[in-house]
Amino acid sequence: MKAITIVGASLAGLRAAETLRREGFDGTINVVGDEVHRPYDRPPLSKQFLSGEWDRGRIELVRPESFDDLNLTWHLGAAATAIDPTNHAVTLASGEVLSAEGVVIATGARARTLPGSMAGVHTLRTVDDAQAVRQAFDSGVDRLVIIGSGFIGAEVAATARERGIDVTMIEMAMQPFERSLGAEVGSVLAEIHVEHGVDLRRGVGYKAFVGGDRVSGVELTDGTTVNADLVVVGIGVLPNTEWLDGSGLAVDDGVVCDETSLVAPGIVAAGDVARWPNQHFGDSMRVEHWDNATTQGVHAAKRLLHGPTVGPYAPVPWFWTDQYDRKIQLAGRTTGFDRFDVVEGSFAERRFAGLYARGGVLVAVVGFNRPRHVMRYRALIEAKTPYEHALAAEI
Ligand code: FAD
Ligand code: NAP
Repeated sequence: MKAITIVGASLAGLRAAETLRREGFDGTINVVGDEVHRPYDRPPLSKQFLSGEWDRGRIELVRPESFDDLNLTWHLGAAATAIDPTNHAVTLASGEVLSAEGVVIATGARARTLPGSMAGVHTLRTVDDAQAVRQAFDSGVDRLVIIGSGFIGAEVAATARERGIDVTMIEMAMQPFERSLGAEVGSVLAEIHVEHGVDLRRGVGYKAFVGGDRVSGVELTDGTTVNADLVVVGIGVLPNTEWLDGSGLAVDDGVVCDETSLVAPGIVAAGDVARWPNQHFGDSMRVEHWDNATTQGVHAAKRLLHGPTVGPYAPVPWFWTDQYDRKIQLAGRTTGFDRFDVVEGSFAERRFAGLYARGGVLVAVVGFNRPRHVMRYRALIEAKTPYEHALAAEI
C-alpha cells in the first residue's frame, strides 16, 4: 500500500495512525477531520476541562515529540462527504478526492439534539461545546437544567455542583443509569447525586424550551416548568454514517463490520461509529467509550495492514466515569443480566464491587472506587468464568 486515508481525526483515528506507523507503514497517511482541531481527548470535557482545572493544552492527544515521527497529512475542517469503496477514494466537501489503497472509518458519533433549541441550550461533544458551557459557568450561571441522566448528564451535574451551581436533572426513566448499570446500582448513583444537592426529576420528559432570545426555563411533560439560565442536553448520540450513504457499505446504527473490524476489502472501522459482532459475547455491539476507541483503532489498523491473520476483535469492553469523589468503572456487558451480587464493600458505604451474571457465567463487574477489583474480575470475564467460581474467587 502506498496511501491510507483515515476519516475522523479523533481518538480511534489517531490510534489507527499511530499503529500503522508502529507496524512499519511508511506511505502517506491522510487524516481527514471535519473539526478544525487536531485530535483532543473528550473525557476531560465534562470533568477537568469543564471545571476549569485543566487548560486546553492538557487535552491534546498528539504529543509534540511524536508529531514528526507520525508524519501525517492533515485535512482538518474538511468533512468527508462520500466514499467509493472499490477504489478506496474519499471525497471531501471541497470536492477534493483522496485516493488510497486503504481506508479507516473513524467518524465517531454526534450529540442528539431537541427541537426548539435557543441561546443558552447546549450539547456537549466537542471542545468548542465544552468551552461554551465553561464560559457560561465562569460568567455566573445560577440554575442549570440538564436533560438526560446518562454519562453527560451525570458528569456535568457533578462538575456543576462542585462549582456551586443549582442543578435540576430531568430523566424520562424512573430509574436513571438503569441501561448501563442495572436498576440497583443505578439507584445508588441516583442517590449520590441527590445527596450532592441535585434536584433529580424522574419519569418526566422534556416538552419545550421557554424563553425569547435566550432560554429561561424548560417545560416538562408533567406540566411543570423549571427555571434555567443554562441547559445542557445529554440524550445520547447518533453515529456519523451519513457520508457513507449511497456507497453500498452496510449501515445499521453504525457502520457494519465483520468480527475483525473489516467493513469491505481494504476498509476497516473503529470506535464509536463501528458495529461488529463481538465473539466473546456473541452479540453485535457498538461501544461508545474511550477504551474501545483506542483498542479497536489499534486492531483495525493491524487488520488493514496484515490481513485476516489478525483475527477477531473480541474484547471485554471497559469504561470509567468520574462523579464527585467516586471513580465508577464497569467492565463487560450488563445487557440481559439475570443476577447481581455485591462482592466487596456495600451500597451504604458508596464503595463496592458488584458482579453481573448471565446464564451462569460472569459477564460484567462494576466498581465504585474499587479499581483493583474491576481489573481482576475483568480477567475472569475474559476467561468466561462460571459465576459460582467467580463468586468464590480470591480477589
Ligand atoms: P469521536 O471522538 O466522536 O471522533 C470522531 C471524529 O470524526 C470527530 O472529530 C468528528 O467530528 C469527525 N467526523 C465525523 N464525521 C466526519 C466526516 N464525515 N468527515 C470528517 N470527519 C468527521 N469514555 C469513557 O470511557 N470514559 C469517560 O470518562 C468519557 N468521557 C467522555 C466525556 C465526553 C464529554 C464525551 C463527549 C465523551 C466521553 N467518553 C468517555 C467517550 C469517548 O470520548 C468516546 O468513546 C471517544 O471519543 C470515541 O472516539 P472516536 O474516535 O471513535 O469518535
Ligand atoms: P447516554 O449515556 O446514552 O445517555 C442518554 C440519556 O438520555 C439516557 O439516560 C436516556 O434515557 C436519556 N434520554 C434519551 N432521550 C431523552 C429525552 N428525549 N428526554 C430526556 N432524557 C432522554 O448519552 P449521553 O449521556 O448523552 O452521552 C453521550 C455520549 O458520550 C455517549 O456515547 C456516552 O457513552 C459518551 N460519554 C461517555 C462518558 C463515559 O464513558 N464516562 C462520559 C460522557 C459521555 P434512557 O436510558 O432511558 O434511554
